[in-house]
Amino acid sequence: MNPRPGRLVLLGHPVGHSLSPRFQNAALRAAGIPLVYEPLDVAPADLDAVLEALIAQRAAGNVTIPHKTHVAARCARLAPLAERTGAVNTFWTDGNVLVGDNTDVDGFDAAVRALMGGAPSGAEIGVVGAGGAAAAVLAAIERWDGCHARLYNRTVDRAHHLAARFAGVTQVVRSAEDAVSGAALVVNATAIGLADDSLPFPLDALLPDAAVLDLVYRPGRTPLVRSAAARGHRADDGLRMLVEQGACAFERWFGVAPDRALMWATVTPGR
Ligand code: NAP
Repeated sequence: MNPRPGRLVLLGHPVGHSLSPRFQNAALRAAGIPLVYEPLDVAPADLDAVLEALIAQRAAGNVTIPHKTHVAARCARLAPLAERTGAVNTFWTDGNVLVGDNTDVDGFDAAVRALMGGAPSGAEIGVVGAGGAAAAVLAAIERWDGCHARLYNRTVDRAHHLAARFAGVTQVVRSAEDAVSGAALVVNATAIGLADDSLPFPLDALLPDAAVLDLVYRPGRTPLVRSAAARGHRADDGLRMLVEQGACAFERWFGVAPDRALMWATVTPGR
């Protein structure tokens, strides 16, 4: 077990919108840990210098868009899921080096189990998107028994590049409709629906009993979740994944479980 971090930060650009400080600080207070989780808006050009300073301060923290891949490349050691995804969302320092992990995988896994009542087995899963979040989704899918992903992304080369890393469980398809039709679970791993009311795939293509997980979250739920729920689908947004990846990160930093119910209540008043 590493000594307690000297500082706890969220690295991103931008980070002002993030809910992580709210639930991490609630969990820190409840655990009696005298640290404050600070959002740090770091432009890409400044990231290396900031990481050097954070190592000197024995900092730990989370990483969000657009820094996950760069931080992975800067880590001296990667946990297996960070290695597998090529992305770090959780880091800490060990002596004078950075260590990285990826708790988005377990966060996504927990969100799916909550939505479907357990991990899928022998299931076709439609995935739209091919960025860092989609990599975490595919890393979870390859752990589930007999599951297979049909992957679509607007930028086709990026879909092929990602699928090649998860070749045993992933097939690239030609449209979002092809990805989701016939799937037991469909996942939006794009930013679609974050800022407007567009949908990442046509809902007419879904099986009637398909479960829908949107990794995006925003106040009032996302257009995909609202539309899918109105059609009778089990549907959830990315908040469960967000809180769970944060709870798993807390366990990495401190070696103890946070109060998950408190974290959840902090970001979901009224749900
Ligand atoms: P990323 O690496 O920047 O990838 C963005 C993805 O979204 C790419 O597949 C991109 O397609 C696609 N995209 C963006 N705008 C699009 C548009 N207008 N039309 C079609 N595709 C579009 O980001 P990421 O880390 O994978 O994150 C993706 C989403 O997941 C974000 O909204 C993020 O907030 C969410 N997320 C949630 C959690 C959580 O805990 N709930 C965790 C991680 C991420 P191209 O390749 O064609 O550009």
